[in-house]
Amino acid sequence: MYGEQDTFDDQEGPVEPAVAHGPGAHRRPVRAGRRALLRGSIALGAAAVAGPFLLMASASAYTWTRTLREGMSGPDVKELQIRVAGWAAGSASQTFVTIDGAFGAGTTAAVKRFQAAYSLAADGIAGPATQSKLNALQSADGSTVHFNWSEFTNPPTGDFSGGKVSASTAKEYARRLMYKLEAVRVKLGNVPMTVNSGFRSIAHNRAVGGASDSMHLYGLAADLDVPGVANITVYRRAETSGFSGLETYTAGHQHVDSRAEIGRAWWWQDGTV
Ligand SMILES: [Zn+2]
Repeated sequence: MYGEQDTFDDQEGPVEPAVAHGPGAHRRPVRAGRRALLRGSIALGAAAVAGPFLLMASASAYTWTRTLREGMSGPDVKELQIRVAGWAAGSASQTFVTIDGAFGAGTTAAVKRFQAAYSLAADGIAGPATQSKLNALQSADGSTVHFNWSEFTNPPTGDFSGGKVSASTAKEYARRLMYKLEAVRVKLGNVPMTVNSGFRSIAHNRAVGGASDSMHLYGLAADLDVPGVANITVYRRAETSGFSGLETYTAGHQHVDSRAEIGRAWWWQDGTV
């Protein structure tokens, strides 16, 4: 059942001008992300025509073509960054993995944490074993293994249209959220976790009383329900997972979002807990 009632207290912080600050904060035009997405699609298409064997593989896996290490750049590095973004920090820290396709120190550190969590040699280099684990997190429809697109789509329409960014951008942001949430899930001990509210159209957000510039309008936010786990615990795990918007853990759900990744100020309503 969709938790509409939970959204009424979804304040999502003050409406502030888009000022980037804090470690790792930056501005990145949405258009750049869309271009990269297109590049990714073209790369997948090229793999698909290479033969039936690759076609089968590409239906449920990203086609990694090289071992990735610090200093490299490209769309495959960008995809790596998306998939390890939930491992942004070892302890509560206002930082995130910049999704820019440039393999720097922050990406290395995140890869190491991902590797350690999945019992791989934590060398910060994404070779075949690490890439295999990264692909194991992906579902055939492009979502992740523990989350479904239907948890993130706008309830009245079942899609990603009508928000403050294009449907394709909102969907891509939701996909990035899924990988961060996979990390939070591991940090909580692989417990079941559902998303009560993901993307909302402007009309639906208004109908449920959401904040006027809610991160849900961009596909950048998720309201989490983790049965049997206190929201404060979810909040704490989110503090190490690259989330730049965290609503108070006393709410009926735990709101998390990635606002700093579109240049907004960090907002951890209860600070570091
Ligand atoms: Zn929310």
